[in-house]
Amino acid sequence: MKALRYYGARDVRYEAMDDPAPQSTRDAVVKVEACSICGSDLHIYHGHGFSEDLGFCVGHEAVGEVVEVGSGVNQLKVGDKVMIPAAVGCGSCRACLAGVVNLCEYGMGSCYGLSAKLQGSQAEAVRVPAADANAVKVPEGVSMEQALMMTDALATAWYGARNADIKPGSSVAVVGLGPIGLMAVDSAFVMGAHVVYAIDPIPERRALAEAAGAIALHPDEAMERIKQDTKGRKLDCAVEVVGADATVDFALRLVRPRGTVSVIGVQQSRRFAFPLERAFAAGLTFRTGTCSVPEELPALFPLVQSGRLKPEKYVSHRLPLSQGAEAYRLFEAREAGALGWMVKPFTQDKLLAVIRKVLG
Ligand code: ZN
Ligand code: ZN
Repeated sequence: MKALRYYGARDVRYEAMDDPAPQSTRDAVVKVEACSICGSDLHIYHGHGFSEDLGFCVGHEAVGEVVEVGSGVNQLKVGDKVMIPAAVGCGSCRACLAGVVNLCEYGMGSCYGLSAKLQGSQAEAVRVPAADANAVKVPEGVSMEQALMMTDALATAWYGARNADIKPGSSVAVVGLGPIGLMAVDSAFVMGAHVVYAIDPIPERRALAEAAGAIALHPDEAMERIKQDTKGRKLDCAVEVVGADATVDFALRLVRPRGTVSVIGVQQSRRFAFPLERAFAAGLTFRTGTCSVPEELPALFPLVQSGRLKPEKYVSHRLPLSQGAEAYRLFEAREAGALGWMVKPFTQDKLLAVIRKVLG
């Protein structure tokens, strides 16, 4: 098969690779119909990978069709359309059974496309370990493209909004408007927020947030405007989607006493000085962590089926998988209108890539 393989900083190649094969009776092989490049892939692309391996296949967001199942796979059969969430677990420990595969108690929690140990899904096919637990049938009324957006981005956005304690009538800030930030804006409205302040320095991103119904603000004007609108009370909830010290601190300053701050941006420094005294005095709630996709799906499937959430609106381009290397280059350059990417093989001979409108 052909796959996108990582050979070092800014060196991703579209190359032949051995076809994936089951390594245990619980494994399945999925022919990839669509896969995407997200912000974490860009991290690897920049050479800040999670292993020293070279030549492994990258990517952790994909949907496709089951083409092979081991004798120990009970829930899936050849021909099933499935989504492959980014993280995998053993599927049988307490954490995995609760859907929290990223915290697998047997230490089998892993993610595709970080090393040669678990090959990625920016490829024509991918091995899915413990497939009953780690592949999810795409339900009726959810398109493959929507399912693709739910393998990581939408699930993370929803988790981030959920962690911010958004309730009917809440006032919310979303700091950082990549695709996940924009989906967090959508999620906040679905959860009942009466107002969402969407904050980002990039005008094109603010325009997308405005189209979603948010009040879009440049960071320089946000604090003043929010204080003015709320008569100094500030907001109930903040979702931080950047992970930088300055934006986390900013989110902590945007909420009222007893407010909640949820950080889903991957931390960019290891020495963030948490303002404990201020948080203590104000009785703030602070949550962070990575999402486990299966845990979020029971809420997300009906919301997508009913059209309340439309993650596919953040898809703007499609390219062949064979242009994957170029896709990474363009994604990095964040050329106009192409702030995020997906690689989307539709059929065996016509492999397409999709660019999300915004960057993760
Ligand atoms: Zn991702
Ligand atoms: Zn487990």
